Amino acid sequence: MNNNYDLIVMGGGSGGLACAQRAAEYGATVAVIEHAPLGGTCVNVGCVPKKIMWYAAHQASQINLAGDYGFNVTVQSHNWAQLKKRRDAYIERLNDIYERNLKNRNIHIINGSAKFKNKTIITVDNIDYAAKRIVIATGGRPIVPQLEGSTLGTDSDGFFSLPECPPRVAIIGSGYIAVEFAGLLSALGSKVSLLIRKESLLRSFDAMLSENLKNALIHQGVSIIEKVIPNSLDKRGDDCFLTAENKQQYGPFDKVIWAVGRAPNSTDLNLSAAAVLTDENDFIPVDKYQQTNIENIFAIGDVTGKEALTPVAIAAGRRLSDRLFGNMSERYLEYHTIPTVVFSHPPIGTVGLTEAQAREEHGDKITIYTSSFNPMLYALSDEIDKVPTTMKLITLGEEQKVIGCHIIGDGADEMLQGFAVAIRKGVTKQDLDDTIAIHPTSAEELVTMR
Ligand code: FAD
Ligand code: NDP
Repeated sequence: MNNNYDLIVMGGGSGGLACAQRAAEYGATVAVIEHAPLGGTCVNVGCVPKKIMWYAAHQASQINLAGDYGFNVTVQSHNWAQLKKRRDAYIERLNDIYERNLKNRNIHIINGSAKFKNKTIITVDNIDYAAKRIVIATGGRPIVPQLEGSTLGTDSDGFFSLPECPPRVAIIGSGYIAVEFAGLLSALGSKVSLLIRKESLLRSFDAMLSENLKNALIHQGVSIIEKVIPNSLDKRGDDCFLTAENKQQYGPFDKVIWAVGRAPNSTDLNLSAAAVLTDENDFIPVDKYQQTNIENIFAIGDVTGKEALTPVAIAAGRRLSDRLFGNMSERYLEYHTIPTVVFSHPPIGTVGLTEAQAREEHGDKITIYTSSFNPMLYALSDEIDKVPTTMKLITLGEEQKVIGCHIIGDGADEMLQGFAVAIRKGVTKQDLDDTIAIHPTSAEELVTMR
């Protein structure tokens, strides 16, 4: 058979492309199978278009501050359609770059949907492709709950297709996507209602972040409605309404966006033909070397159910290829101390244990340092317009090793990366105290906390 490779990668997203390219750099013959534009969720309907929208929203808040600095500007209007057109064009350029990158490495791109025929053969449109090793990197998709009328709402993929800014939006959910979309839609002019099941946002994050973000969103004009368990959606004319389990009705809305988590793309792969096992939520479990229950079949990225972040998928893919084709027999990704940023307004940066986790694991051996202040950016603003920054450091034992760092405030997104390196290397509070601050910045608070 001509269609015979050292490696077949199912899925040309963050993890799959990284894995394929690294393998090809070691000289492996590689094919990538993809049925949508190259780049996967992150590039097409995730991080990249989201960050563009976040920047747009950020511009709006900066323009609002400009008056405090003597500029005579106000936002008259915002051209959503123009923003979308430019954003889509940027993404198309990225799609082309990804294609070129694969071609430059002689990686065969197969367009279509991949399915297992057996443990070494993948079928696409009735054509068989064989490989010694197969990597499943098929990612995930947004969950739309199976409720009456639920498809009257849209999801994060649909959000990126919206031709105009919806005047009245309901966002259902309390995780990353819900709070990111709430912040940016509100800044771009929507009246946003955020409907959450419990009483807090981002419940797996440190409680300080969750509380401060809630206050910030309310301050921004987002209406947060707690304890809403969705039961159905219905449409009356162009207006959409949500009915909760307790019969309470919410609306009218122009758009309802589900942001209630993501499901793995594993059910259409005919995994049983290769005897690859999944867990009860259809994720594909892997060992520390990304190996599934089948020796020559690996899985990386969102489809594994581990931290669903682009750099995690990329790192897993590259390390896997280092091990399989680069003679690094012990190379694998350690899934701990993974920094993450929520692109809310203001953004959140967090790494390590939350205070609740640290207390549960280490009891009274931990010390908490916090700092809350108004950044100098708002020095000239009225009190009401100031957006506070809050930081928390969690240290362990007498040595005061930093085991958690949580920041909400302007610049948190760019601040965290360097601290994440330090924390991974075991930085102590004393090391931070001994580091000369950079003044005047917000970040300096992290090395001057008492
Ligand atoms: P994907 O990137 O989803 O790639 C999987 C690919 O497989 C897709 O291209 C899909 O079309 C293809 N595929 C699926 N089935 C088949 C098949 N049978 N045959 C062929 N191809 C197939 N992460 C961050 O780190 N930072 C962020 O700011 C961020 N923002 C996000 C915002 C949103 C709205 C969303 C939804 C996600 C965001 N993420 C972010 C998460 C990030 O996008 C994912 O963690 C990342 O894309 C996962 O990479 P992956 O390779 O596992 O899967
Ligand atoms: P998340 O897992 O972050 O949050 C979804 C939340 O929705 C749940 O935690 C739950 O919160 C709530 N929920 C679940 N089911 C329902 C329901 N039926 N009705 C109402 N609420 C419900 O998922 P997202 O979809 O926001 O994002 C998916 C993943 O993508 C993230 O976990 C993250 O890994 C990644 N991502 C990363 C980003 C970044 O790095 N900046 C940005 C966007 C996504 P509760 O239990 O409190 O009700």
